Amino acid sequence: MSQLLGAASYTDSSDDETSPRDKQQKNSKGSSDFCVKNIKQAEFGRREIEIAEQEMPALMALRKRAQGEKPLAGAKIVGCTHITAQTAVLMETLGALGAQCRWAACNIYSTLNEVAAALAESGFPVFAWKGESEDDFWWCIDRCVNVEGWQPNMILDDGGDLTHWIYKKYPNMFKKIKGIVEESVTGVHRLYQLSKAGKLCVPAMNVNDSVTKQKFDNLYCCRESILDGLKRTTDMMFGGKQVVVCGYGEVGKGCCAALKAMGSIVYVTEIDPICALQACMDGFRLVKLNEVIRQVDIVITCTGNKNVVTREHLDRMKNSCIVCNMGHSNTEIDVASLRTPELTWERVRSQVDHVIWPDGKRIVLLAEGRLLNLSCSTVPTFVLSITATTQALALIELYNAPEGRYKQDVYLLPKKMDEYVASLHLPTFDAHLTELTDEQAKYLGLNKNGPFKPNYYRY
Ligand code: NAD
Repeated sequence: MSQLLGAASYTDSSDDETSPRDKQQKNSKGSSDFCVKNIKQAEFGRREIEIAEQEMPALMALRKRAQGEKPLAGAKIVGCTHITAQTAVLMETLGALGAQCRWAACNIYSTLNEVAAALAESGFPVFAWKGESEDDFWWCIDRCVNVEGWQPNMILDDGGDLTHWIYKKYPNMFKKIKGIVEESVTGVHRLYQLSKAGKLCVPAMNVNDSVTKQKFDNLYCCRESILDGLKRTTDMMFGGKQVVVCGYGEVGKGCCAALKAMGSIVYVTEIDPICALQACMDGFRLVKLNEVIRQVDIVITCTGNKNVVTREHLDRMKNSCIVCNMGHSNTEIDVASLRTPELTWERVRSQVDHVIWPDGKRIVLLAEGRLLNLSCSTVPTFVLSITATTQALALIELYNAPEGRYKQDVYLLPKKMDEYVASLHLPTFDAHLTELTDEQAKYLGLNKNGPFKPNYYRY
């Protein structure tokens, strides 16, 4: 158990309803520069971090290498990501590489309280707890940024909310910021929009589209965690169930593969003919949502888009249809449209709501339309290790880049570093990579040490 975010978080005391904002807490060194649910849970969190370290070989290798040089010495990183044991391993690695960090959560449900406590106990100013309100969410971000005597010079963001907050509230801060590393599709999209409008004032690195991140985090992670999230929340059986997956990008492909392997009948919706054709070639029926909405048992969104599932769709679903989102935030399913007087909401489990129509029909809404796997299941640590290593290398690259290498634009992680992330993970499998001979390298026109593929290669 390395990232238990759902109902069973064993140190979550639901009887303690006091908002962390109203609590006076200090860590054992007397610092109160943090806001977490309960600092006393730190020891449990430390165990979680130690478990995660076992599956994050590349970050541990970076720490070892950093014993001599500190590539992030002087870096002041403000971060806004999911706060989990794996993030803790990343933060402690950044610390070992010389950086100071302040951190908030990018999702109001995904914080593992005991891990946040462990980080606060070891001196990281962390502002996050599971079940923040919308107001808490922005308050936590503000507490990371708006500090006397401390100004960030690097941003690590997941979703773009932190970046957006600094743009809105503290634009002058960008004078000192050397770069933004952004992890999500949505955050990256926002950065490209800023860049297009000529409003991006620092270099930014799009780690979402680095090959290692996209293939492993989006595809393999979702392939493993979709079943886990559905199982933990509903105890359902997958064999023979009819499922519609909206979007056949990396996340959609992972979800479809897992469900197909379990014997589900899987339909796919797509707007892009290339991804649509891929779905067909992989043996899935490509449909419009309207065509199957009455018959399916599960609806899963993975598009990164908004209002993919509308009130009209929700009205037409059959009784006990399960609705969940693996894509972006809480925009894909129009959950707000279900907050009308004629519908009754029943919270049947943590993260599970039954929404009941006047005729008695009920749908099962998971995590209120937020990311299912991050809210209700564990995510494989090894996959997150790849993402976290990519983030660490992107931060090192932007922070150390000589003046002028990166302009006020959005960049991809250099291919060689992408390959480096993968190579740091190979020893785990006792995998033996073949080396090019001099003759072969010459024949292919490659450097023996990489990069091994042109940028346009698609893997
Ligand atoms: P992607 O761009 O590869 O795939 C999204 C697909 O959805 C595209 O093929 C697009 O054509 C399609 N699409 C867009 N609008 C649609 C619509 N209205 N109907 C049907 N299809 C539509 O992106 P991805 O890497 O698969 O990521 C998708 C989303 O999942 C993003 O928001 C990303 O942030 C999120 N994500 C979630 C996890 C997780 O753990 N749950 C992991 C990685 C990414």
